[in-house]
Amino acid sequence: MTDQEKINFISGKIKEINAITSEIEEVFPEKSFKMDGILIGNIVEVLTAHMYGITLYKQSEKTYDGEVGGRKVQIKGTQGNGSIVFRDEPDYLLVEYLDKENGTIQEIYNGPGSLVWPFRSYVPSMNHYTIRVNKLRELDETVADEERIKATVPVQKFKGQKQSIVRSEFKPSKSKERKTLVEGYINRNNQENRGCLNKPGNHYNQVAYLLHCNCCGFEYEANGCDVAIRKCPKCM
Ligand SMILES: [Zn+2]
Repeated sequence: MTDQEKINFISGKIKEINAITSEIEEVFPEKSFKMDGILIGNIVEVLTAHMYGITLYKQSEKTYDGEVGGRKVQIKGTQGNGSIVFRDEPDYLLVEYLDKENGTIQEIYNGPGSLVWPFRSYVPSMNHYTIRVNKLRELDETVADEERIKATVPVQKFKGQKQSIVRSEFKPSKSKERKTLVEGYINRNNQENRGCLNKPGNHYNQVAYLLHCNCCGFEYEANGCDVAIRKCPKCM
C-alpha cells in the first residue's frame, strides 16, 4: 500500500469503529463505549506518521515515537478538549485531535517541546504532568513556521470542541451552563469533565457527563449537578 492508501484505509476503519461504538451506546446508554487509551494513541500515531512523513520507531522509546528530518518527535492524540499527559520534555511535539466522524486528525500543537514544557502541571499521584489542550492551542499560535514539522498531506487545524455524540434532545440548558459543565473542568478531587453525554442522568432533570479520574484513569458517569464534588469510585 502507498502512504495515501494507508491513510485512506485507517480513516475508513476509524469511521467504522465510531459507527460500531455509537450503535452499542444506542443499545446500552447506561455505559460509555468511547474509544480510549492505547487504541486512540496508536491510531493517531500511525495517521500522524503517514501524514507528516515521520518514521515511527519499532519499539516505543521512552519519550519519542518517531523521527523526521533528524528531529525526534513525540506524538500525542486526544479525542477530547481536556488535557494531555506528559512524562518527559520532548524535543519536538505533535498533538493531534482524533476526528472520529471524519476518520482523520486535526492539529492542536506542532512545534518544539521547550515551548510548552514551562506550562505543565504536576499530578503527584500519577507522577506525570498534564497540559491543557486550550493552552497548547494558544502556544501553537506562537510557533514560528520554520519550527514546525511540515505535513506531507494537508492537515487541518483543530477548530474547537467537536460534539461526537449529539443525537438526543437531552441537552444542558444555557441557563444552567456553569464552569463545572465545560469539558476539561477538573474538580478539587482531580476528576476531569470529559464532556456531556447528551443523555439523562439518574436524577430528575439532570444530564449525564463523562468523568475521568486523573489519578487512576477510571472513567464513569455523573449527573451535571455532581461534577464539582465527585470522587473516583475506584481509587478514592
Ligand atoms: Zn481513580
